[in-house]
Amino acid sequence: MTEGIPFVDFKPHVAAHRAEIDAAIARVLDSGWFILGPECEAFERELAAYFGVADAVAVANGTEALQLALEAMGVGAGDEVVTSPVTAAFSAIAVERAGATPVFADVDPATVAVTPESVERAITKRTKVLMPVHLYGHPVDLEPMLDLAQRKGLPLLEDACQAHGALYKGRKVGSFGPLAGLSFYPTKNLGAFGDGGAILVGDSRYAERLRRLRNGGQSQRYYHDEPGMNSRLDELHCAVLRAKLPHLDGWTARRREIAALYDRELKGQDDVRPLGEQPYAKSCYHLYVVRSPRRDALAKDLAARGVGTLIHYPVPLHLQKMYARLGGKVGDFPNAEQVVGEILSLPMYPELTDAQALQVAAAVRESR
Ligand SMILES: *Cc1c(COP(=O)(O)O)cnc(C)c1O
Repeated sequence: MTEGIPFVDFKPHVAAHRAEIDAAIARVLDSGWFILGPECEAFERELAAYFGVADAVAVANGTEALQLALEAMGVGAGDEVVTSPVTAAFSAIAVERAGATPVFADVDPATVAVTPESVERAITKRTKVLMPVHLYGHPVDLEPMLDLAQRKGLPLLEDACQAHGALYKGRKVGSFGPLAGLSFYPTKNLGAFGDGGAILVGDSRYAERLRRLRNGGQSQRYYHDEPGMNSRLDELHCAVLRAKLPHLDGWTARRREIAALYDRELKGQDDVRPLGEQPYAKSCYHLYVVRSPRRDALAKDLAARGVGTLIHYPVPLHLQKMYARLGGKVGDFPNAEQVVGEILSLPMYPELTDAQALQVAAAVRESR
């Protein structure tokens, strides 16, 4: 009897790094300083250096990273932000929390990402920011997207919440726009033991305002220039993330090995096709996604064989209940609607062994 393979398993992850994590936590406890201190400053510096950007601002989660980035870009009531209908709903929720309206652009079924053409069609006089999502850790085609942004005079905010370490033509995504949002939700490629997020700052003119916005709009202690919010990332999480950051490239390399193994083992399956990688992209494989016209039966077969899977995401955002008031209806985004019925995410994390990945692939091949 072989063991099942869960969709995600943090126990081997924690075990592999336990000593460094314990040391990071102990350092904070011994310091007696818990909010906006030396760990936060050092983490922001190290994160910015890793991504090759001018600065980074650590915040409470990825949703607020995007929200505060939008606010810093001047987005507010009456404005529109163009994004993908196939993403974590929190991408669109961030737009709403910034006071604006998300406007969706259909995806290319091959990449499940928005295209420059679909984004251009979604732009109106009210559009303030273009916010493409590097979904599953696979970069969107950034050059034509940046051309479009420049032509329209609109800034690009990369939703890089799933894309820590992914490369577009050799350069890290998250470093292309003036700002980008990152999440450190535990399952993300760089994950905290709780919630966390950061704004990558390519244009350093935004940094001061962002630091103010995350801390109640204070320019100095007890002097509030604007409301802002409480979106600070505590010292404990900054210390843990500092311990983890040096491992990120190694984890990405391992994720890419597992992806190559899956690609090889699933080759020739005519009704289960991996999403694959575009020539301009080196994905960080936050998720490994296959498409199948018999997705639901496949998921059921895999569950029966003890293999955990998930669907990212089952409902395109324009058809979510919360967006009924925006008038979204079936047929608005045909590619998005079709692809969400076919996608399935297989287990993908650095601690997955070759034997486990082979077992997953065999279970896929045996499903009929
Ligand atoms: C995780 C995620 C978010 C939200 O991040 P949180 O840290 O959970 O708030 C936003 N966008 C995408 C694409 C994500 O994957």
